[in-house]
Amino acid sequence: MYFSPLGLSPTLLRALAELRYMQPTPVQLAAIPLILAGRDMLASAETGSGKTAAFCLPLLQRLAAAPGGRPRRVRALILVPTRELAVQIGEVARQLARYETSALKIAVVFGGVSINPQMMGLRGGADVVVATPGRLIDLLAHKALDLAGVQTLVLDEADRLLDLGFDDELQQILVRLPSARQNLFFSATLPAPVQALAARLLQSPARVDVLPEVLEVSAIAQQAIEVDSSRRTQLLRHLIGQESWSRVLVFVATKHAAEIVADKLRKAGLAAEPFHGELSQGKRTQVLLDFKNSELKVVVATDVAARGLDVSQLPVVVNYDLPRSAVDYVHRIGRTGRAGESGLAVSFVSAATQAHFRLIEKRQGVTVPRTQVAGFEPLETAPALAPTESRSEAGAATGGVKGKRPSKKDKLRAAALLAADKDAKTDSDDSDNKADTDD
Ligand code: AMP
Repeated sequence: MYFSPLGLSPTLLRALAELRYMQPTPVQLAAIPLILAGRDMLASAETGSGKTAAFCLPLLQRLAAAPGGRPRRVRALILVPTRELAVQIGEVARQLARYETSALKIAVVFGGVSINPQMMGLRGGADVVVATPGRLIDLLAHKALDLAGVQTLVLDEADRLLDLGFDDELQQILVRLPSARQNLFFSATLPAPVQALAARLLQSPARVDVLPEVLEVSAIAQQAIEVDSSRRTQLLRHLIGQESWSRVLVFVATKHAAEIVADKLRKAGLAAEPFHGELSQGKRTQVLLDFKNSELKVVVATDVAARGLDVSQLPVVVNYDLPRSAVDYVHRIGRTGRAGESGLAVSFVSAATQAHFRLIEKRQGVTVPRTQVAGFEPLETAPALAPTESRSEAGAATGGVKGKRPSKKDKLRAAALLAADKDAKTDSDDSDNKADTDD
């Protein structure tokens, strides 16, 4: 199946050929004709599925078919949770639009950098704006743009937008949009808050659901290596050398752990950098660029910062710390095996985190083979949880209701969190182990 039967214009087909996108991915196949037809959409598709082109292609085609006047009015608004995702979507949209005769202007705006160049960039208007919510509101306050002409709204990674607490910003933005418009929601997961927002905003939406296929086509081999938590950095170094991994994305639980692990790897002579929400935008962009150009071998990242990070041909992802949920696990391992390439996802599992990993497996409906590496066989045994300790930790871990008895799942999560906390603390006395956040 090729792109040509999907109803796309010759200019877009030319751009696709140049990008060497030969065949549409499942989400592109399902979404493009429906979006071209003007339908609202609720799509569960994550980064790696080709979702960016799935909404950019029809959106650009509709804009090019009806050129806007001068100054340009913002006719499409794409809201995203992170700066990296904004930059990536802007790049893809510009590449796809490069042969449009009406020369569409695509502006990308995000926080963490000076607002002035972005205000200058919006002079004369823009056809498409890709934005993180906070910066968009700042720009609206500066009257740098007007959203009254928006014809299509895209919420990309809608679950993450709500997870990161952007509800208020979204409300402030939504009231600035005309009520007659096309709405497209893309979300890796569809938790209740996303469904509620979708029910409120979408008009008879088409549903596109491609998550299982994404994992199937992307052929990710999963492996769990049993190792004591105190020996994980050594094991990581050993594996990078032994297995000749060219590039590795390593996930940890906290910003602090990202710094510590990257530092230890650097001291061992590996080109490694941390990647988390507290780094400056310039630093984050540089790390990504160096990683893409293979000047960096290892990036040690937190979940929030790595979300939406698109590095093609990334052969290995390592869960140095286990993710908190099965959903996060899927996001993490989806960083490898992108768009049909093969990939390897390795999880380090200790006695304290075995039970938590079993939960992740159960949620996914898979059993991940356990292995041990010679010289790194684990010696630790699982810590027994004191009843009072487990209860209070479980409450904290789940945001649980006071007085409610923790379930078995809560206890396992609490044990995993305790273990992660303990690991981070054994690395240093610094107690800055907060979870990562982004703007
Ligand atoms: P996305 O899910 O939009 O982040 O895309 C994931 C990766 O797949 C990106 O590196 C895209 O360049 C690539 N990609 C998207 N669509 C296609 C396609 N039809 N053929 C080949 N690669 C694609």
